[in-house]
Amino acid sequence: MPTSSTSAQPPTGPQRPADPRTPPDPQPPAGSRTPGGPRPAGAEHRRAAPDRGRTLLGPALALVHTGRAPTRSALTTALDVTRATAGAVTGELEALGLITVDSRPAGGGRGRPSHRLAIDPAGPVVVAAQIHADSLSVTLAGLGGSLDKPRYLPLPAATDPVRMLRAVAEAGADLARSTHRRCLGIALALPNPVTEPDGTALAALHFSWPSGTPVADLFDEEVRRADFGPRARTPLPSAVANDANLAALAEHRHGAGRDARHLLLVTSGHRGVGGALVIDGRLHTGSAGLALEVGHLTVDPLGRPCGCGNRGCLNAETDPEALFVAAGLTPDPLTPLFEQARSLARSAAADPPDPVAEAAVAHVVDRLGLGLAGLVNILNPDRIVLSGLHLDLLAVAPERLAAVVADRCLWGRSGRVPIVPAQVDHAGLAGAAELAWEPYLQDPQAVPTGRA
Ligand SMILES: [Zn+2]
Repeated sequence: MPTSSTSAQPPTGPQRPADPRTPPDPQPPAGSRTPGGPRPAGAEHRRAAPDRGRTLLGPALALVHTGRAPTRSALTTALDVTRATAGAVTGELEALGLITVDSRPAGGGRGRPSHRLAIDPAGPVVVAAQIHADSLSVTLAGLGGSLDKPRYLPLPAATDPVRMLRAVAEAGADLARSTHRRCLGIALALPNPVTEPDGTALAALHFSWPSGTPVADLFDEEVRRADFGPRARTPLPSAVANDANLAALAEHRHGAGRDARHLLLVTSGHRGVGGALVIDGRLHTGSAGLALEVGHLTVDPLGRPCGCGNRGCLNAETDPEALFVAAGLTPDPLTPLFEQARSLARSAAADPPDPVAEAAVAHVVDRLGLGLAGLVNILNPDRIVLSGLHLDLLAVAPERLAAVVADRCLWGRSGRVPIVPAQVDHAGLAGAAELAWEPYLQDPQAVPTGRA
């Protein structure tokens, strides 16, 4: 429920639009669902002049959350408001228990020191969770992109979606009861496509879930059944989304994608390849949440069979198994394939390099390059972030990968797109945290005051 505080004053003077290269106002990501929860502030809301001061709260919190406004002076500039307005806005965010405002002199600087802004370390948390191919992970996350050390749990023996989602909800509830901080939401990253806006899981091949499982509704039911303790918001807003989409959101706000306007993320985890696109701070998810299924881009028509029924998809040609096939090696069945593939890729850059690994990396990098070139020609990103096994391939063969992409791009080497490694640890979890924070970044006054 919004608070009744109205301390933020409307600004005076003309307002210029914020610099689009540093969008202060994160847009709702895919899968954002807040049943019974706050309504995101819409564009029409933002136009209403009398609410201007209030509607600056979201953009202001987003700027502090993403590290773009470490001082009140930086915030004043980024929002293009008066000092008085910035002071009112930061005062309100501080009163909501979301940020701290430190007015003590930092020392050393000349002129009037600006108040330093930071996320309140005692402020609220959300639960971030992720279902992986072979485990589930869960953690608490504060604003500012900070995550506690994730807790990993084995997947329940039965792959029934309700059991799996119950295990996630209960693990999250356990963490929420263990903290003295208020818990304001929970979000879950899934390794399969999730439709929008209804939140059904498609092609959940890892778990043999029926296609069309209403995962968002089932998860919300399990969250409502679990005991999140006295400091959690009731009912606790829940959300689910695809893990690659969430990883891209986390990289855009806190990692290698910061300040990119058209950020393409491509990743290979335990199995298959995922992709996501963030345009001006907003995830591009298509008409039904299913855009950027880059894994089924054909990069070798005569290549290996893919689960989709075709041959030579990026999935089948550049995932961990593909690297082993290219090397003519058989992975150890008792060790996670992803870790073995990373190790095999890195041995191509050992001293001396392993020639078998070198050849396998070259083979897979060439196919990854073909896939990226196709995506660059279609999407024209200004940055590509690679994660998972692709991050290791980039580290081992950066020149080769860049050359394959440039050779196949319409603009050739003059249009070379920076290809950089992902930076955010546990990016799926970090992205799930972003999803859970979204309603509050849109409208900080949705944060319940006092004891939730
Ligand atoms: Zn395919």
